[in-house]
Amino acid sequence: MQIRVIRGQKSKHNSVTQSKFIIIAIDGGAAAGKSSTSRGLSARYRLMHVDTGSFYRATTLKLMEAGIKPSNNSALTDELSALKLGTALSGNTASITINDWVPDKSIRSQAINDNVSHYAALPELRSFLLDYQRSLADVARDRGFDGLVMEGRDIGSVIFPNADLRLYLFADPAKRAQRRAKEGIADSIEKRDQMDSSRKAAPLQVPEGATLIDSSELTLDEVIDKVATIIDSIRSS
Ligand code: C5P
Repeated sequence: MQIRVIRGQKSKHNSVTQSKFIIIAIDGGAAAGKSSTSRGLSARYRLMHVDTGSFYRATTLKLMEAGIKPSNNSALTDELSALKLGTALSGNTASITINDWVPDKSIRSQAINDNVSHYAALPELRSFLLDYQRSLADVARDRGFDGLVMEGRDIGSVIFPNADLRLYLFADPAKRAQRRAKEGIADSIEKRDQMDSSRKAAPLQVPEGATLIDSSELTLDEVIDKVATIIDSIRSS
């Protein structure tokens, strides 16, 4: 995968806010280790965990069920306006609800793997989910968490560009394929990464000021410890 870095002026948002509540944005390609790392950090630091990939998967499933093709803009807009979003909390993880439906493992099917990047490239869908994703910081505050860890493709670049910590995880394609195979899921991760990185709307890229972590040769605990060191040093500075 070609890694694209946002270029521009140095961020005004590189330093951590003094408040106790922290926002951690984790981006990276498919099977880069984002979910396991996010869950580990959420447990260690009492952060609300949000997997935004599941939002795109769940909306893709709803749109496919309604027979809406990514190319049908007006039907897409109509259908999106009929979807009422909410949030369900299970342990530290917040999931989206759509018209009171809590997404289940059906959003991890091969059909969704094959189609999600086509729908996720649509600016209409991305703007439909934008405010909802940002509002989850308030949900985390209201629920008494010490912060939010949100994973996806555009979290540090678009959703929370001023997050206290922006991480970009990556790993060898062979390692990533191995991880998916272990999960028993058929997923053309390189193709999805290619589509996600090359789309016009909020492409997968390294956010400005992000810390890059190569998880290829690291265990999950080693990745979490690496990030924890950064969080601890940020908090004590
Ligand atoms: O993280 P996961 O692999 O489940 O994400 C599924 C798909 O959702 C990605 O391949 C991408 O097309 C889309 N996605 C996105 N922006 C995000 C999160 C996921 O476009 N913030």
